[in-house]
Amino acid sequence: MSKLTPETREKIGSRTRLVHAGRDPEETHGFINTPAWRGSTVLFPTYDSLKSRNRRFTYGTKGTPSSEALENAWTEISGAAQTVLAPTGLAAIALALLTAVKAGDHVLITDSAYGPTRHFCDTILKRMGVETTYYDPCVASGIGDLMRVNTSVVLVEAPGSQSFEMQDVPAIAGVAHARGACVIMDNTWATPLFFPPHARGVDLAIEAGTKYLSGHSDLMLGLVSSNEAWRKHLRETYDSFAMCAGPEDIFLALRGLRTMELRLREAERQGLALATWFSTRPEVKDVLHPALPSHPGHSIWKRDFSGSSGLFSIILHPVPETAVAAMLDGLELFGMGYSWGGFESLVIPFDCSSYRTATKWAPGGPALRFQVGLENMEDLTADLARGFERMKAAAR
Ligand SMILES: *Cc1c(COP(=O)(O)O)cnc(C)c1O
Repeated sequence: MSKLTPETREKIGSRTRLVHAGRDPEETHGFINTPAWRGSTVLFPTYDSLKSRNRRFTYGTKGTPSSEALENAWTEISGAAQTVLAPTGLAAIALALLTAVKAGDHVLITDSAYGPTRHFCDTILKRMGVETTYYDPCVASGIGDLMRVNTSVVLVEAPGSQSFEMQDVPAIAGVAHARGACVIMDNTWATPLFFPPHARGVDLAIEAGTKYLSGHSDLMLGLVSSNEAWRKHLRETYDSFAMCAGPEDIFLALRGLRTMELRLREAERQGLALATWFSTRPEVKDVLHPALPSHPGHSIWKRDFSGSSGLFSIILHPVPETAVAAMLDGLELFGMGYSWGGFESLVIPFDCSSYRTATKWAPGGPALRFQVGLENMEDLTADLARGFERMKAAAR
């Protein structure tokens, strides 16, 4: 048994919780960490126990002490009733959607959703006879006008992928629930540490553990947490797919969990410092960071979120694409790559206009997304300042 009494567990702060959640050294011979349990077969000692499957663990796909440790920890820090793991963030999104839809349903997906979420809806859900409508992320309680009798899911993501629109999640959830729909949220940016999804009305919350839970760009993992209303349905869907996360990735995620708040707070500090630096630069037209008072969704962020992470975008004043390439190609400290949440700084150019359907993406200049790592800020800004010089030289 864990040394924490239920009363203590109830009261402790988030950092204490991250240290203790999902961990019971008495179960691991006193060693601090839960090892990476590998296994398919579980042996039963008697005929009767085999027939009744009367064991805590029964088969590799049904869970191991490692997966259970991470699930329990995530449930605790998310204020959820339950968590299931998936091999990637995208698999977690698929699992959440398939938990809540059936043939003939209609789903409402925010236009700002992670691109592969759209692809899943446009291919797999379509093939299952589920119709998708994309909606303006800033719709708030206006979502009611888009709901049909067969709308079974409203998917939110705040802030939006790449473009960082804020969504009024409690308002959307209120309307969706009144009409009997399941509210699914991709909460990867804020994590439950900065946005407690279930307390804000979300039924199924997705986290790409690949990002901040890992924190080191060395694993892939997804998590779906649910409130009590969706607990059974989620577990049933999970059991049917047996889409399990690997033991090594779970082990690394449990390691990452212990320092997640420290890393997130530092990502927030670094992210705000870099976003503020960009807002002083003449080359930059807009900074899309919800924690800056200039952001159109700032008041929603301030009301509902307790922090911001280290991912945001900027819009440059118009320059030719070759000038943007000259800036990015010479960067020494920023890698170019699609994931984020690790210790290293990254940048990607993006253009939402090719796939948005409910809203128009016309930012008025080239768009760049930044993931800020743990490097010294003055090194990062010096690298970027040299990049701006290359950009201007190439634009002349
Ligand atoms: C990266 C990401 C995912 C998917 O995670 P993977 O583990 O890479 O599949 C889902 N949602 C958001 C917002 C992401 O940024």
